[in-house]
Amino acid sequence: MQAVTPFQDAIDIIKEEGGDICKLCYQCGTCTATCPWNLVRSFPVRKTMHQAQLGLPDFESEDMWLCVTCKWCVDRCPRGVGIIDVWKSFRRAIVEMGIGGVPDSVRITAKNVSGVGNPQGETREKRTDWAKDMGIKTFTKGMDVLYFACCFNSYDPKLTRVAKATAKIMQKAGINFGILGSEQSCCGESVRKTGNEELFKNLVQTNADIFNRAGVTKIVVSSPHCYHTFKNEYPEFGAKFEVVHSSQFIAELIRDKKITPSKELKKKVTLHDSCYLGRHNNVYDEPREVLKSIPGVELVEMLNNRENGLCCGGGGGRIWADTKRGERFSDIRIQQAIDTGASTLAVACPYCMANFEDSVLSMDKGGVLEIKEISELIADSI
Ligand code: SF4
Ligand code: SF4
Repeated sequence: MQAVTPFQDAIDIIKEEGGDICKLCYQCGTCTATCPWNLVRSFPVRKTMHQAQLGLPDFESEDMWLCVTCKWCVDRCPRGVGIIDVWKSFRRAIVEMGIGGVPDSVRITAKNVSGVGNPQGETREKRTDWAKDMGIKTFTKGMDVLYFACCFNSYDPKLTRVAKATAKIMQKAGINFGILGSEQSCCGESVRKTGNEELFKNLVQTNADIFNRAGVTKIVVSSPHCYHTFKNEYPEFGAKFEVVHSSQFIAELIRDKKITPSKELKKKVTLHDSCYLGRHNNVYDEPREVLKSIPGVELVEMLNNRENGLCCGGGGGRIWADTKRGERFSDIRIQQAIDTGASTLAVACPYCMANFEDSVLSMDKGGVLEIKEISELIADSI
């Protein structure tokens, strides 16, 4: 039937993307009880699913933009409702139909990605500045691995150390790898999670063309968000590559004895499971395997580990939004890490790393807990 109003068009998008909601959800409320937002403020997930069933979501509500896509509720929902798909469909409806307000963070991120290929709005030319003086080659046909560092690790002065550590490990292991230059763009993950499907499709097309032209078959990524997007979402559009997260790649290098962590790091370390490596992709063992291979490291588990990992608050495009003090999951996570007695919180995701670095500073816990990406710890030990 022909859609007659923007509101009807929006309802059609919700039916198309979150299609199963109407027949499946039986309003048990498990999603609300599970959602981490309810640790810090009210977030009525069940009620919103009901509004969607009735075709009456409140597009003006701030709630439309809160879901961090952590997948906790999806894994617990007894009816298998694709709750994240429903939130995504709300956002797509708002962006495409102009119903409700789009937050500044979402608008600016989309504008930056569309204009210069990265969410931060940095120039394309600066994307590979982190690699200067490291002797890293530009990817050419015949190389084994493309290293895709993520926009965050490429541009953010606090995170370029992750890209450098990962490249150093590959060099030490003798991997025939390269990086691409200014023409590559953001993988598009937060663009899609915040409802800009058209821009996401353009990014898939642009990146896939660049990878194919360069002869890329295998991509090593530092971000679980790039991992998920390249591995599970690009193939929807026919763009298929072998995708490996750096923690998996490093674990394999250690198993194959291409690198051997030998320098002792006397540290008590705890590990944060990121949502997009853990719940979304079931990668729990390799980061632990890597940490345990370092002489002197004692690995202790924090509350909410593995399948129960508590989101840092950065998924679903929230990494680019301002979250009020008192509502930051990363603050709770920092306290959980400190409660283990660990002096190092190991992470495997740039969003988690950025959020935890901010929380440690704002909570004045820098003297108690350091934040280290797994590759940094390995680079320090080889
Ligand atoms: S957990 Fe699933 S079935 Fe229960 S209210 Fe939420 S979406 Fe509906
Ligand atoms: S995916 Fe996570 S943040 Fe989103 S509604 Fe479910 S539990 Fe809440």
